[in-house]
Amino acid sequence: MKTERLHYDDPLLLRTTARVVEHARWGDRPSVVLDETPFYPESGGQLGDRGALGGVPVLDVQVDDDGRVHHLLDGSGPAVGASVDAEVDGARRRTHMALHTGQHALSRALLDGLGATTLSSRLGASACTLDVDVAKLDLEALRPIEDAVNRVIDEDRPVRQRFVDDDELARLDLRKPAPDMPRVRVVEIEGFDLTPCGGTHAIHTSQIELLVVRGVEAYKGGSRITFEAGPRARALLLEDAGRLRDTAARLKCAVPEVADIVEGTGMKLAAAREEAGALRAQLAELWAARLEADGAVVASIEGGDPALLKAIAGRLTGRAALVALAAPTSDGTHVLIARGQGSTVSCGDLLRAVAEAAGGRGGGRPDHAQGKLPAGADFEALVSAELRRG
Ligand SMILES: [Zn+2]
Repeated sequence: MKTERLHYDDPLLLRTTARVVEHARWGDRPSVVLDETPFYPESGGQLGDRGALGGVPVLDVQVDDDGRVHHLLDGSGPAVGASVDAEVDGARRRTHMALHTGQHALSRALLDGLGATTLSSRLGASACTLDVDVAKLDLEALRPIEDAVNRVIDEDRPVRQRFVDDDELARLDLRKPAPDMPRVRVVEIEGFDLTPCGGTHAIHTSQIELLVVRGVEAYKGGSRITFEAGPRARALLLEDAGRLRDTAARLKCAVPEVADIVEGTGMKLAAAREEAGALRAQLAELWAARLEADGAVVASIEGGDPALLKAIAGRLTGRAALVALAAPTSDGTHVLIARGQGSTVSCGDLLRAVAEAAGGRGGGRPDHAQGKLPAGADFEALVSAELRRG
C-alpha cells in the first residue's frame, strides 16, 4: 500500500500519529511502513529526514517503486496495527528546506543571468553541488548570481508547492521539463521560478536565510558549483568569521587590515630571503677562499647550515677533487660531500659508509650527497678514515 506523504501538503508538519501497516525490508535491513508519514524519504538529490517512531530513532528513510515509505529504525519497531508517534527532526528538515529552496533560486538565477541550465544537483550531508552546462565559470561571474538569489530571499516571496493536472501542466512555463508521472508536483517561488519537484521547500524565501556560493570547478565540459544555504551557510560564515578574528588577534590588527598585513609580511619575508641569500653568498666566498683547495677539502663550518655548505661546495668543486663539509648544530651535524671534475669517488657511497659508522643517515648521487649525523660525530676523522680505506 502506498504511503500517504504528509510533507507534500505541509513541509512544516513535523509530527503526527500514524498506524503501522507493515514490517518490510529495505535491502537487507528491516523497515517499518506507516499508513501516512511526515518523513521525507531520500530522493531527487535530497537526503531523507531523521527523527523517531514511537521514541525509536529513525536512521534512514527510503521510498520504493510502489510508493511505500520505509522507516529504518535503530531498534525494533512497533507492532503492525499499532498507533505510533512519528516525529521528524525539525532542525534537519528546516536545513533541507532552506538548501532545496536555495537550490531552486540559484538554478533560476543561473538561467536568467548566465543562460546556464542546471543538469543535476546534490544536497549532501556536508556539501551541496549544482552542475550546469556552461564552462569556464569563476567566482567573479557567480557573485551577481549569488546577489540575485539573496535579493529574492530579502524580498520574502511566498513559495507554493502543489500537484497539478495535465491541463494546467500544459499551460505552465516550467524551468525544466516535468517528469512523466500521473500527478506532477510544481514548486513556485512567486514571480521568480516555477519547476517540477517533489522535495521539501520553505514556504517563504526568507526561510532560506542566505545563500553562499563557495566554489566552482570545471566538470564534464560544464561547471560544478558548490554552495550552502540556510543554517549551514550561517554556521559556515560564522566559523570563517571566527577564524578571521583569531587571525587578526594573532597579527595584532583589526579584521579589515588582515589582508594588507599578510601581504606586507610576505613582501618582507621575500626581501629577507633575498638578503639572507646575498649574505650566504658572501660568507661562502670567504670560506672558499680560506679552505685549502687542492686534493680533498675536509672541513667543519661553524655556524653553517645545509644551504651554506652547498654554496661553499659549489665554489670549491672547480678546484678540489673532493669537498666534504660539516656544519655542527646542537641537534646534529649537517654534512655534504661533493666531488670535483676528474674524481671517481662516489660521494653517495662515501657518505653512506660515514653515516653508518656514525649512526646517522645520508646518501645521494655519485657526484653529490647530503645527510645528517648525530651531534658530536667527528665527521672529518670519519671521512679521512674512509678515504684511507677506500
Ligand atoms: Zn525542490
